[in-house]
Amino acid sequence: MARKRSSGDGLGWVAVGGLALAAVALASAEADRQRQVRARQQLREKELEDARAFVYATLHETCRAFGIAPVPLVFVEEGNAASDGHRVYVNLAWFDDLLTRHCGESACTMAVARWVLAHEIAHHVHRDADVPLWVRNSHGLELRADYYAGRALAHFGAEFGVLDGVLREIAPFPTQTHPAFHARLRASHDGFRDYVLEQAFRAQPAHALTT
Ligand SMILES: [Zn+2]
Repeated sequence: MARKRSSGDGLGWVAVGGLALAAVALASAEADRQRQVRARQQLREKELEDARAFVYATLHETCRAFGIAPVPLVFVEEGNAASDGHRVYVNLAWFDDLLTRHCGESACTMAVARWVLAHEIAHHVHRDADVPLWVRNSHGLELRADYYAGRALAHFGAEFGVLDGVLREIAPFPTQTHPAFHARLRASHDGFRDYVLEQAFRAQPAHALTT
């Protein structure tokens, strides 16, 4: 014989139904959360892909400015940017952060990116990684790379002024391997100025040089 349903059973079904709805709502919220996480990951991957493509393109055009074939580029997870004479290494997270914090528009982004990459290409061109450590630690090679990075900025017609803040951050104090920002800024400025003067000199008609 069927048991007569009591009002207590009815409340039980209501409770079970409520729990089921809550579970569905939770599952739906979790699915939404996972969709958002996936969308954020895809966006971040796209940003990183764009950033990698930007570094490749900038490195290649800077190599062309130096008159050399493109230097192999390797992305690394640590440090900032470096050259071992065979490859240029770039920590994309560091580079992206540097550009984001110092630049609000593309002219600045291009100038800073070109300066960083030209500095490493200058090390590469001069085979600085092959010289003894005591020479490498004398700051002279760093300043020479900064000089050529300054020349590269002038070659591209970039704005020099953006370097001040970048170098203050990269090299606030001298270290065993790197000079402080004021020396690096001066070396870059010398390279920039020399390039501009050389171009102006070349543009002069011959008779103007005999005075
Ligand atoms: Zn260097």
